[in-house]
Amino acid sequence: MADQGPRLVLLGRQGAGKGTQSVRLSDHYGVERVSTGELFRAAVAAGTPTGRTVAEYLDSGELVPDEIVLRVVDEQFRPGGPLERGFILDGFPRTVRQAEELDVVLDGQPLDLVLNLDVPMEEVLHRLAGRRVCETCGAPYHVNLPPKQNWTCDLCGGKVTQRPDDTEEAVSRRLELYEELTVPIIGYYRALGRVVVIDAVGPGDEVFARLQAAVDAALAAR
Ligand code: AMP
Repeated sequence: MADQGPRLVLLGRQGAGKGTQSVRLSDHYGVERVSTGELFRAAVAAGTPTGRTVAEYLDSGELVPDEIVLRVVDEQFRPGGPLERGFILDGFPRTVRQAEELDVVLDGQPLDLVLNLDVPMEEVLHRLAGRRVCETCGAPYHVNLPPKQNWTCDLCGGKVTQRPDDTEEAVSRRLELYEELTVPIIGYYRALGRVVVIDAVGPGDEVFARLQAAVDAALAAR
């Protein structure tokens, strides 16, 4: 197992920077990243049966029922699939039931670390209110840090818009659900001794350096 990449879960409130930092971790350690939110948004955009089922949950900020989430995640963990050599999970698990099911899927191979990105509520509210994302590649922007040209993505040329679930109402529901259903996961993993809290306020490079130090320490202790 020592030659395998890290097996990580990223937790943190909406707007804590999980998307951005999980992409960086995935590039840095050369392992696959799975974002259930992105899988669902892609399914909605493609109009698949799953997409049609989950669209309303996404728009209102409600959680997609565990059964659907677990089916979608299960497909990602197929034996011989890319996750065998390590992974970063962003947005999953979101409930204690999902965390328990993940343990079953991992079949005795423990996670290396659960990284809890810590950002105060006032800061995430500010980030989410001004957040804009590329509809094509998901690259994140902010009204105070827009793309160079007329809301066109610097990376892929896609249209940069506000996520339908970044409205005030949906944001407040998502944050409420995070406290109610996702925060208990931290206790679940803490009991297994795998949680590290990362201060996620400040420049992205500094937050990434903190994450990298925590992951490297966990890998060295394997
Ligand atoms: P995210 O991009 O992680 O903020 O996810 C966007 C939306 O997708 C959430 O508000 C939920 O509606 C849905 N979603 C993503 N991941 C999960 C999950 N693990 N369990 C339930 N719903 C999820």
